[in-house]
Amino acid sequence: MNLIYKCTRCSRREAYTTLLERTLCRCGSPYLIEYDLNTLDRSQLREKFNSRPKSVWRYLELLPPIRISPISMGEGGTYLHSSRGLGRLIGLRKLYIKNESTNPTGAFTDRGATVEISRDLEVGVSRIICIASGNLSVSISAYSAKAGIPCSVYLKTGVEQVKVLQALAYDAEVFFTSNLESVITSLTQELASCHLITSSNPFLIEGYKTCTLEVLDELNWVSPDWILIPVGSGSHITALWKAVKEVEEIGLLKDGLPSILGGQINSCAPIAEAYKNNSEDIKPTSTFKVIFPDIAEPNPIWGHMALKAVRESSGEILTVSQERLLEAIKLLAKSEGILAEPAAAVSLATLIDAVDLGLIKRDETVVYIVTGSGMKDPSTIQSIAEIKTFERPNQFKRIGSTKKKILEILDKKPLHGYGIQRELANHYGIKVKLPTIYEHLSDLYSIGLIQLSVLDRARSKRTQKKYSLTDFGKEFYKRTIQNTL
Ligand SMILES: [Zn+2]
Repeated sequence: MNLIYKCTRCSRREAYTTLLERTLCRCGSPYLIEYDLNTLDRSQLREKFNSRPKSVWRYLELLPPIRISPISMGEGGTYLHSSRGLGRLIGLRKLYIKNESTNPTGAFTDRGATVEISRDLEVGVSRIICIASGNLSVSISAYSAKAGIPCSVYLKTGVEQVKVLQALAYDAEVFFTSNLESVITSLTQELASCHLITSSNPFLIEGYKTCTLEVLDELNWVSPDWILIPVGSGSHITALWKAVKEVEEIGLLKDGLPSILGGQINSCAPIAEAYKNNSEDIKPTSTFKVIFPDIAEPNPIWGHMALKAVRESSGEILTVSQERLLEAIKLLAKSEGILAEPAAAVSLATLIDAVDLGLIKRDETVVYIVTGSGMKDPSTIQSIAEIKTFERPNQFKRIGSTKKKILEILDKKPLHGYGIQRELANHYGIKVKLPTIYEHLSDLYSIGLIQLSVLDRARSKRTQKKYSLTDFGKEFYKRTIQNTL
């Protein structure tokens, strides 16, 4: 099969003979590896996949050809859970969870590392410098160790301590910086004799693709309605969409494409901002303050590709506050037994909002990708262990922000569904369709927070149904919501 490096913005092409001299094109954008899929032997492709173990290398025909035995540690082949507890709590009937925390170093980035490092070894790279987020640096350290290639990593100041310890244990040389981009320019001399790995390397994207290929494979090559993914540099979302488009092109997908729901934290959300402003370009975030540095990417290199993917997929990008991440981590852990990293919790918090707003319908099929393990940050585990919940926590977890506002509206006066819809729009700027309003009301009713009163209209003698708070609903509103709205 013919391969070529192609710039993601100006379409400049580079021959696929060895590694790229420079990871970015002259226009400043990253390259992707493009396959001539017309020359791919499509016969019995599914049978070929099925004949191999569940792992990244199961999808050989859709990966760059490697002529050596790959540097592999059993990455990929992660479990796709059919959710019961979490789906019920947030109001979804068909929720699947792809648990990437069971990869060798605890994150999805191992998928990229196996492809990148195998290629590096094949072409004779003698030393690696990795300048990237914590998870990717850890993966590159581990796979370099396995390949016997010396490795130095540059980590962001404030990165979770366990990630630093992991990289050191894999015998990488570890440096810290507050600005990953400036390191690249200051290392010009060293880079002349080393291979540079950043999140823009196209071989990483090829490895990340396999997470989506596995999801589609598990679902018998039928797309879910939605795939949820946290957005940092935009590399994972770029890979997701590349995988979907490739299997569509070769005729593996049975029908329809998934929509992508991306999630970012609101204190550092340059891609979400560009999406909201209908812009093609990403404006880097200059000032931001984050508790979890590994999920904040102020100048995302794959940003324009992430935007393109979300738009083409008729998806959405939502933002959430960092404060909600701890709650989301706890909710996932207690309902499914999966301890997620904060980045993965971004997606869960946005999922709760998307269901709450009626963006994701309750009978739609949703795949939620847990990108990495919460075990990498013991202080976060300690924080979530201390989270206290109301005495009937399971039922109240479903009370998202729209429901809280509905309770506030009904605390003032009884109203019918249409009246609530009008109040939400006029006072809170929340536009929700009427069927979604009735779903919220049905939930609140089933928990016993609201009641339906039938009122006689004296003049017309017609009856009218209005919703109001029950006594319990009034108490609940006073105790748990009134001060937090
Ligand atoms: Zn270019």
